[in-house]
Amino acid sequence: MSLLHVKQAIQKRKVSLTTLMIGLVSVSVLLMLTILLIASYQSKKQALYETTLTLNLSTASKMSMTMDSLFESMRSSLKNAADFYSLNSDMKQSDSGKYLDLIRNSSNYFNSIVVVDENGVMRTLSPSSIGKAGEPIKTAAAKEALASRKPYLSKPYTSATTKNLMVFISEPLFDQKGVYRGYIGGSLYLQQNNVLNMIFGNDNLDHNGSYFYVVGSDGHLMYDPDKSQIGKDSTSNLIVQKLIKGQSGQELAVDEVGVKWLAGYSYVPENQWGVVVLSPISIVKEQLNNHIQAILLYTLIPFILLMLVTTFLARRLAKPFVTLANIVSKMGKEEVPIPAMKHHWNREADLLTSTVILAMNGIKTETDRLTQAAMTDALTGLNNRRTLETIMKKWIEEKKHYSIVVLDIDRFKTINDTYGHQEGDRVLQHLADIVRFSVSPDDLCSRYGGEEFVVLLPNAAPHVAFETAERIRTTMASSENHLKQMVTVSLGVAQFPSHAQTADELFLLADQALYKAKHAGRNKTVMAD
Ligand code: GH3
Ligand code: MG
Ligand code: MG
Repeated sequence: MSLLHVKQAIQKRKVSLTTLMIGLVSVSVLLMLTILLIASYQSKKQALYETTLTLNLSTASKMSMTMDSLFESMRSSLKNAADFYSLNSDMKQSDSGKYLDLIRNSSNYFNSIVVVDENGVMRTLSPSSIGKAGEPIKTAAAKEALASRKPYLSKPYTSATTKNLMVFISEPLFDQKGVYRGYIGGSLYLQQNNVLNMIFGNDNLDHNGSYFYVVGSDGHLMYDPDKSQIGKDSTSNLIVQKLIKGQSGQELAVDEVGVKWLAGYSYVPENQWGVVVLSPISIVKEQLNNHIQAILLYTLIPFILLMLVTTFLARRLAKPFVTLANIVSKMGKEEVPIPAMKHHWNREADLLTSTVILAMNGIKTETDRLTQAAMTDALTGLNNRRTLETIMKKWIEEKKHYSIVVLDIDRFKTINDTYGHQEGDRVLQHLADIVRFSVSPDDLCSRYGGEEFVVLLPNAAPHVAFETAERIRTTMASSENHLKQMVTVSLGVAQFPSHAQTADELFLLADQALYKAKHAGRNKTVMAD
């Protein structure tokens, strides 16, 4: 794998600022949402539990009140009939039957009514189909009612003649003198249409699974939507046990198959029965699910908007960093223009941009300084040999006409030997000043090496170059240096393209001319052949 591929692979593993910000925002939003959902779920659940329980208790109480007054009316209806019989004890048998039919049909309170004399013989029955007048009572409940000589309410039992599961209410009969004459009793057939399901309805309370049932004072079911359950002993049920004790209330109940119910239950004082209203806990769960779905739906659009804003902001945030990275990565490979300082709204991006620009400026200054140093001769401040050669070649490539003057100090070794190297250096600096002073502004002066200097004169004809060379020579010869010693130079002149075609050849010709000047006695200028 190449280095570039390794770099790319590492880059891929890094998390971008955009991803990071989106990730952070998502995580915090999801976390918040989760907390919100849990909190909302819990409080809503509690509220729904309480509302349902309260509602069920209030329904149970209302039903219990209704049943209370129903039984009171049933009893007063029997009592009125008993009073009527007491006043009309000599009534004919057929009239008595009609009277009972009238009571039964006008109120619908009872499925059947019977008048029993003090000896336990049935005197009148309505409807007549339930038995025969003149026959003795058989069931324990009837016997108990007779014996009690008081208002009586039986427990559920199955009738001997009709095999109906029933309860039985009776009022004692007394004649005008107050002698006990038996009782008048009404029956409710629990598993058939009766006054209870006429008033409370046969169906469930609600289509959501809520329902009610009624238990008797001994814990047997008096009413249940499932008719087959009626009459069943349910004393094992904790709510039923409380009702038997005469308590009312609300609670979370678990049935025998483990299903949880929200129950409200109410005791009926008149008959010591109890009404239980139940709602399955699943209805609360269903409402909770709807609630959670609604919250999620409401948060979805803001969440998407938030994500879009985050993506936009993250991109904008990352942009200056990416731009700077691109600029810096190009540095050293190509000429990179220093970007203009653009202020950024993000403090870190702003800081980094200004720092990078500052650093780039610093690098540029230093590079320029080093470039300058690499091009110049340290002692004289003139161009060095490398610069000279580069320019010569460049001009020849460009076919630019120019002349060259090569000069060398005469007998410089003697100066060094006499005054020392440092004094010699000062003579070199003095010569540099004179060369600089003697040429035109466009001419290019350089120290070729040692005590040898070169001047390039662009667009200068050979005689112009010769004149410049002579100016240098005479100025030098007549100038006074710090040693108060006359120092002369010898010079050679050549021109491109009249003397040579290449830079090396041109230089060589000028150098040869210089040596001719030396041989000719020094302090001379010689033009190349
Ligand atoms: P001529 O050129 O006239 O033939 O005689 P010359 O004495 O100048 O001859 P040569 O070229 O042999 O000697 C050049 C001397 O220049 C040798 C060296 O000591 C001296 N030299 C070269 N570079 C420097 C320098 O940078 N500073 C000093 N002070 N002397 C230098
Ligand atoms: Mg020399
Ligand atoms: Mg010399």
